[in-house]
Amino acid sequence: MKQVDHIGIAVHSIEKSLPYYTETLQLSLIAIEEVAQQKVKVAFLDAGNVKLELLEATESESPIAKFIAKRGEGVHHIAFGVENIRARMKDLKENGVQLLQEEPKKGAGGAEVAFLHPKSSYGVLYELCEKTTTGE
Ligand code: ZN
Repeated sequence: MKQVDHIGIAVHSIEKSLPYYTETLQLSLIAIEEVAQQKVKVAFLDAGNVKLELLEATESESPIAKFIAKRGEGVHHIAFGVENIRARMKDLKENGVQLLQEEPKKGAGGAEVAFLHPKSSYGVLYELCEKTTTGE
C-alpha cells in the first residue's frame, strides 16, 4: 500500500455538513461529484496529506443509506492509493483477504476502486483506489 489517499465519511446531507468542513474546520473543497454506479454523491476536501470524502446516498438502496440506517453518520472507509489495483486485488486474495467485488469499479474522479471485506480487515472497510492520469 502506497499511502492513505482519503477517509470516507457517511453523511445524511453534503449540503448540510459541508459548511462544518469548509467554514468551521476551514478545509478547502476540491470537488463535488455524483458517482451513479455507487449511488452516492461525494465531496472531496483537502486535509493536507489526506483527503476527506463526504458520502451522501442518492438512493435508498445505496450502501451509504444502509450504513447510516445501521450505524449512523460517521467514518465509513479508509482508502489506500495503489498503483496497480488488479495486481493488489490478486495479492490480497492470495493472502486470504475477502474482497467485496471481483473487478474494480469506477469511483469518483474516474478512479478505479475496490473494497476489502471488513471481516477480513479486523472491522475496517478498506478501499483500494487507483487514480487515472487525468483526474483528481
Ligand atoms: Zn472512497
